[in-house]
Amino acid sequence: MSNPMPAIFFGHGNPLNALLSNAYTEGWAAVGRDIPRPRAVLCVSAHWYVPGTAVTASGAPRTIHDFGGFPRELYEVQYPAPGDPVLANRVRELLAPTPVSLDYRWGLDHGAWSVLCHVFPGADVPVVQLSIDETQPADFHYEMAKRLAPLRDEGILVVGSGNLVHNLHAYAWGRHKVEPFDWAVRFEERARELLLAGNDTPLVNYETMGRDALLAAPTPDHYLPLLYVVALRRDGERVTFPVEGVDGGSISMLSVRIG
Ligand code: ZN
Repeated sequence: MSNPMPAIFFGHGNPLNALLSNAYTEGWAAVGRDIPRPRAVLCVSAHWYVPGTAVTASGAPRTIHDFGGFPRELYEVQYPAPGDPVLANRVRELLAPTPVSLDYRWGLDHGAWSVLCHVFPGADVPVVQLSIDETQPADFHYEMAKRLAPLRDEGILVVGSGNLVHNLHAYAWGRHKVEPFDWAVRFEERARELLLAGNDTPLVNYETMGRDALLAAPTPDHYLPLLYVVALRRDGERVTFPVEGVDGGSISMLSVRIG
């Protein structure tokens, strides 16, 4: 039996990364070269954070420019990866009894395409997005995500796209480099230790991890995609961090690879 497909959390950060070539985007491209070619990607993006669980079911998802105040060039980016309605139905089946609606209005948001345009620059791997139900607590997401485990044996790359530390109030917009905040460094370090130890419980209950956690994840949207990847780890599987760094003082760009 062949090895299961890895599962990967990407810290996506600033949407402008779609247009840039830097240490983060080069790291993402290296991940794409390093992993077996998937049949399709199932992406859980911080930017599809809505009431209810849904999957994109269109055969040709549109590129969504879900941000404001960026240069025109970014609004012109298209990522024409096909959808995969068969995978959408498979996800729905696996997640039962949680109701999952088939969605034809969403498409690929920048949490997906700003990273995938570097990982799979040919846009030739089908992509399905899974929404994050904003009405549910972290443990719901973690437990539900476990039911996606068979996808790894079916050639599907499960991707979480968010940021382990994501505090836009503290983020240094602009070109100047700033040192990471001490709370950002501490929270990332603690999370890395827990990830390496396979100690999922505190990661799921991150809101009880004190002031650092409150500052690192002031809202759940960018943190929860990590739990969808962590939940897919099998006994004894390796955890690696193929991309590292903190952007603008308060956004962790850490990527987490399982398997
Ligand atoms: Zn984001």
